[in-house]
Amino acid sequence: MPKEFYIREELTALSAIPQRALDALADDSSLPVCATCATQYPAPRRDCTHAKLSGSTDHPQARGATTSSATSRTRASRSSRPSRSSPSLRRVSISPACVKLTPAFLLETFEGSFIWDCSAVLTPPLIAHLTHLRRPLKAMAISHPHFFSTSLTWARALGVPLYINALDKEWYQRRESAGADEVVFWSGTQRLSSTLTLIECGGHFPGSCVLHWDRAAEPLTSDADARAPDTGLLLVADTVMVQPTQKGITFMWSIPNAIPLHPTDVLHIQNVLREYDYDSVSSTWPDRWVRAGAARIFDESVETYLSATGWERGRGDELVPRRKK
Ligand SMILES: [Zn+2]
Ligand SMILES: [Zn+2]
Repeated sequence: MPKEFYIREELTALSAIPQRALDALADDSSLPVCATCATQYPAPRRDCTHAKLSGSTDHPQARGATTSSATSRTRASRSSRPSRSSPSLRRVSISPACVKLTPAFLLETFEGSFIWDCSAVLTPPLIAHLTHLRRPLKAMAISHPHFFSTSLTWARALGVPLYINALDKEWYQRRESAGADEVVFWSGTQRLSSTLTLIECGGHFPGSCVLHWDRAAEPLTSDADARAPDTGLLLVADTVMVQPTQKGITFMWSIPNAIPLHPTDVLHIQNVLREYDYDSVSSTWPDRWVRAGAARIFDESVETYLSATGWERGRGDELVPRRKK
């Protein structure tokens, strides 16, 4: 009786979530969401501006949002549930994927919990879960415009600030309706806690960023379920791409159209990340991890990338066309 199960589950959840969250869901329930990229707009429109981002002249599978092709969150809000992937890092998955799969990560740190990137679908059961975490939710952060999605609704429903890089502000479709205490537009680096740092890298988008988790700095606890690994982790979304083999890294400007990133942007990302300790990297793409030796693999992958795209380093570390041997 799956239908009955859902109804009972949602009624139970309704009594467990704050009025603030119900109000946020109700206020935004009629806003259109692009059926392809999950971008939420403040009003119906005939196209999706995100279709033109990152080298796409169109979405890979659709024509962008219209009032008829966009789906609303309330219609699509049935089966979003948190799924466990490790003691302190969980993926919030959506099943079935009714709009573009835009997964979110839930990080449970000693100082509190944080959400990295955003799923389009937010349901009362998921709100109930996220508002009753063992370590209360502190903030949300989004890596780049492809994951902006319904993030303002999430932030309002969950009562936490939302961090978005200032260089991507023009693509944040709901910037006009967001209050200063709701969305924090940051630049350079931004601390979320003593162990979490947002790092502006650029490349895929001007404000594309990664999230560094200094897990080695998390205090040891007797609670084995809460103990994090003692190595640093980079959550990279699309800014740095973990290859499908999970043995290397690459860099894409446009993923749908397979246009690689300019090598100067690749070197900039490498320089920005050089000062951070990490041993593993997780992409937002499902099951894309480099689980060990990630910093070394990163540097090796950069050299492979430069060579494959026809460049090498000159004497002053500047890029020069690769000489044929
Ligand atoms: Zn779209
Ligand atoms: Zn992207």
